[in-house]
Amino acid sequence: MDTDVAIIGAGPAGLALACALEGSGHAVTLFERAPAHALAEPAFDGREIALTHRSQAILSRLGAWGRIPAAETAPLREAKVVNGASPLALRFAPGEGAEPLGRLVPNHLIRRALFEAAAAGASRLVAGRAVEGLALSPQGARLRLDGGEEVAARLVVAADSRFSEARRWAGIGAAMLDFGKTMIVARVAHDLPHGGVATEWFAHGQTVAILPLAGDVASVVLTVAPGTARRLMAMTPEAFGAEVTRRYGRRLGEMRLVGTRHAYPLVATYAHRFAAARFALAGDAAVGMHPVTAHGFNFGLSGAEALAAQLRAAADPGDAAALARYGSAHRRATLPLFLATNAVARLYTDDRAPARLARAALIGAGAALGPVRRAIVARLMDAPPAAARAGA
Ligand SMILES: Cc1cc2nc3c(=O)[nH]c(=O)nc-3n(C[C@H](O)[C@H](O)[C@H](O)COP(=O)(O)OP(=O)(O)OC[C@H]3O[C@@H](n4cnc5c(N)ncnc54)[C@H](O)[C@@H]3O)c2cc1C
Repeated sequence: MDTDVAIIGAGPAGLALACALEGSGHAVTLFERAPAHALAEPAFDGREIALTHRSQAILSRLGAWGRIPAAETAPLREAKVVNGASPLALRFAPGEGAEPLGRLVPNHLIRRALFEAAAAGASRLVAGRAVEGLALSPQGARLRLDGGEEVAARLVVAADSRFSEARRWAGIGAAMLDFGKTMIVARVAHDLPHGGVATEWFAHGQTVAILPLAGDVASVVLTVAPGTARRLMAMTPEAFGAEVTRRYGRRLGEMRLVGTRHAYPLVATYAHRFAAARFALAGDAAVGMHPVTAHGFNFGLSGAEALAAQLRAAADPGDAAALARYGSAHRRATLPLFLATNAVARLYTDDRAPARLARAALIGAGAALGPVRRAIVARLMDAPPAAARAGA
């Protein structure tokens, strides 16, 4: 079972890396705790992933984009940030006649598409087996699987989630920021059209986001205290629908729950290093973003491409210089947005008076600052700022 590159975790990031290493000349093996059927037909998990244009292009190159049914994705035409009862809103929209800001794609369909793309390639999948230990040295790496079996690898990549055990086994620490909140995600049908507009609405004690999906259906994203989250999760579907209708101020009329609810604790993580001897971190194991700026998996994809580019160019996939180059490039690409996202998330989940004032001031100033909004839209679209429009 020995291999050149051992990837721990066949989540979307691990699978994307396996696809990106296709044709590299390195033998790739994915080790995944979950059984194969759970990867081949992943269950709906409530996450609707906002993919940038760059991420869509990466998924195309990996052979996965064409495997996602277009009808199950939805264009994100505009994003709007509203503070409390203020009439001012910060709006982000592409220029007239331009492409949408991005597309919303259900996470389970991304995972299924990446699984199919990886299965069509040469990488090997060992599913239903957990990795339980790791030994790293400059000469090589060894993984210990459940049951005690050992596997030798020239490089181990941990893509085993933001709470990565492999990161810890490799002696790499991580900054962790627990927001003390829970995010509930669920699909709702509603009476009034959403117009392809995503809204983030910050109010006392809660944040409500609405993500526009195909038809008159939206994903409602509630950020609340854990106790409130438990209460919301325990409600009957009818009571939950009535509650989100009320919490969203009837902006889309009556809302009705369609499908399951999912709760995620809000913890952001950032690894102190992305590489060590014969070891690298990918996906959330490297950078676990707060979802408010919708960038976690977008970074997972760009990181997978960046790491694969370094490994392709190296005869030995554990080449220390190649791993160091990946580490610094991925840090440069992710750290500014990671810090900015946490600052925004903190500001918007803090109900004390100074934070409320700061929010109002920011939205007021942002509404007046065209260049700032254009820069943000450009970042979302991976386009030069001149091509983007943003209005109050
Ligand atoms: C509510 C919500 C909304 C989001 N919205 C967006 C968005 O709009 N845009 C965006 O870009 N991102 C978004 N994200 C982030 C995105 O979902 C994550 O970045 C992405 O799923 C992380 O993928 P991953 O493969 O790194 O980790 P995971 O999906 O956590 O996968 C890790 C895998 O490793 C396996 N594993 C763990 N330990 C072991 C072990 N010891 N042995 C074997 N296998 C192991 C697990 O079983 C799992 O399959 C959102 C996240 C949430 C929670």
